[in-house]
Amino acid sequence: MSDGLQICIHRGTDQIGGSCVELEYSGKRIVVDLGLPLDAELEATELPDIPSIHSNDGSLLGVLLSHGHRDHWGMLPKLPPAINIYLGRKTLSIMSAAAPFIPGGYSPCKSVTFEDGLAFELGPFRITPHLMDHSGFDAYGFLIEAGGKRLYYSGDIRGHGRKAPLFERFIKSPPGDIDVLLMEGSSLGRLKEDERFETERDIEDRLLDVMKTTGGIVLVACSAENIDRVVSVYRAAKRSGRQLLVDAYAAEVLKATDTRSIPKPTDEWTDVKVYIPQAQRRFLKEKNIASLVDGYKGRRIFPEALASDASRSVMIIRPWMVHDLARAGALDGATAIWSQWDGYLKDEAGVKFVDACTAASIRFETIHTSGHADPHDLKRYSEAIDPKKLVPIHTFHPDQFEGLFANVIRSIDGEWFDA
Ligand SMILES: [Zn+2]
Ligand SMILES: [Zn+2]
Repeated sequence: MSDGLQICIHRGTDQIGGSCVELEYSGKRIVVDLGLPLDAELEATELPDIPSIHSNDGSLLGVLLSHGHRDHWGMLPKLPPAINIYLGRKTLSIMSAAAPFIPGGYSPCKSVTFEDGLAFELGPFRITPHLMDHSGFDAYGFLIEAGGKRLYYSGDIRGHGRKAPLFERFIKSPPGDIDVLLMEGSSLGRLKEDERFETERDIEDRLLDVMKTTGGIVLVACSAENIDRVVSVYRAAKRSGRQLLVDAYAAEVLKATDTRSIPKPTDEWTDVKVYIPQAQRRFLKEKNIASLVDGYKGRRIFPEALASDASRSVMIIRPWMVHDLARAGALDGATAIWSQWDGYLKDEAGVKFVDACTAASIRFETIHTSGHADPHDLKRYSEAIDPKKLVPIHTFHPDQFEGLFANVIRSIDGEWFDA
């Protein structure tokens, strides 16, 4: 190995999930993302073999987190707590808000937040975060410079979401002289070269069609942390004359976006209300966070009002909440919309959800688009950056890169290479 910038993809060269990249220069190192593989259990998964994690040599200067998806942060709870985590300010606030509500929820002990476009230094590494369009809010790619070399880490990206203008802006003036681009390829193997994903605006229109043709309540099973999708649901609800109902988890996540244009149960958004399912009421008490509901004063909707409000409501739900609505007699003429990856329908919660909808004889639709760029946009992205080496990451199909992109050099997990 030379003494220039060295790169090792510990995980991610042939899978989506568990992304982890280590960069080493001049005896110092940083780690970019430390995710949990998609189907893995945290307890059963070993941290990558990175000096400073297993020993105390002080060479690890910090971990950069591209965004708040578990396939990027999932192993962080296993890190020694003294290690600094560098992440977007809104990512930190959403992770902290969501932590009590999700199994294995986490927010870093020691963190430093960065801003879009503002470079910062970590020892010999100079890092510039670039805010990108992705289904995860506040998601970044990183330009990392060290020892005269320039590496760009794509993070998770797309060009068809609500932040599409950011993607276009990036392509118009990408960082130049890139030696190595580590680029995600989630859509390879899922779409043919010329197939396109629907845009988030297409999704809004399809949601609207269903809302217009549903007599009762519309239930949308989407992730509350997919903020683009929540906005699509809200906009379709507004266009169809309906109010948006969310539970305490979604309410806290939406408030944590700290972004004016995002709907949330606060004074400026009179058509966003909070419904707290029975099980969640117990849960809030158990977790000692029942006082959160004080923040929803004047914008709560209670079980007894659900049936009468059903025809003018859309609710963002998690699968288990459907039983609560059945108990409240609010499912007459309802439609349930599955608005997340359809692979989750095969999970226990997904199967139960479909069964509950069938038992209540309610209409079932799937309306979703990917959080990742299609091959067409990946091509535009890689051509704009025009790197000397393009190394596949975050993909099940690294073999397809060579047919689509220029200057591809494949790596394997755990192998070191020069920038
Ligand atoms: Zn992601
Ligand atoms: Zn990812």
